[in-house]
Amino acid sequence: MATLQVTDLHVSVTDDETQEAREILKGVNLTMNTGETHAIMGPNGTGKSTLSETIMGNPAYQVTQGDVTLDGESLLTKPVDERARAGVFLAMQYPAEIKGVTNVEFMRAAVNAGRPADDPISIRAFLKELDHNLDILNMSDDMTERYLNEGFSGGEKKRNEILQLMMIKPKFAILDEIDSGLDIDALQVVAKGVNAMAGPDFGTLMITHYQRLLNYIHPDQVHVMMDGRIVKTGDFTLAEKLEAEGYAGLRDELGLNV
Ligand code: ADP
Ligand code: MG
Ligand code: MG
Repeated sequence: MATLQVTDLHVSVTDDETQEAREILKGVNLTMNTGETHAIMGPNGTGKSTLSETIMGNPAYQVTQGDVTLDGESLLTKPVDERARAGVFLAMQYPAEIKGVTNVEFMRAAVNAGRPADDPISIRAFLKELDHNLDILNMSDDMTERYLNEGFSGGEKKRNEILQLMMIKPKFAILDEIDSGLDIDALQVVAKGVNAMAGPDFGTLMITHYQRLLNYIHPDQVHVMMDGRIVKTGDFTLAEKLEAEGYAGLRDELGLNV
């Protein structure tokens, strides 16, 4: 079992115009083990993507207090590629387009980065696995020969993030609004891919606005983030309650005036 732990995390960003630092995360605590599925829900602008970018190591986010550890070892001093090699994967809310690198090249490099330098995956084994995962995700072969995310539709980008996830097989995957812009069929396909990863050596953190995703990828724990903190944790019924009553109801209940 592996454990990803966020402890009293405070994160600031610098405003481009004023050059002033603004605190976005104000003491986030979260412990996830492999074998578990967690969801973070919360209104727009509350710091959900800030949390995922900080865990992954985007330098735009400055940690001013607290820690993020994997099996007790801090990730904060490690660059993004080392965090990835340690077993953390982020499916981004807005995946970048990379001209000149094909999808298949990118995935093979990423898979090999997670293996010893003298033991790259054989092309045959790689392609077999790729084929299998493309089938699960109802993706056509030619998607893999295109430049990474270039000209992909919103739905194709999201599917492609899940394809990468399935090939790279991290210990922990953070899925930042993987459901946004997906119709119900595409959502089911994405869920099928994530659910195919489920097992004792894999943990998922889903970030979403909507209960809808959680009907397909069932969370063990649901956390609500508001104003840069996790204000409540519960089970699936918390997501149902939020869907029914909105965030305003929870604000009143918790006496938050944000
Ligand atoms: P969420 O994902 O919950 O919608 P975000 O983490 O994207 O929220 O944003 C939280 C706040 O931090 C917002 O006010 C946003 O404008 C600000 N923010 C996020 N990233 C940056 C950045 N790179 N530079 C400046 N401000 C940022
Ligand atoms: Mg976001
Ligand atoms: Mg990615």
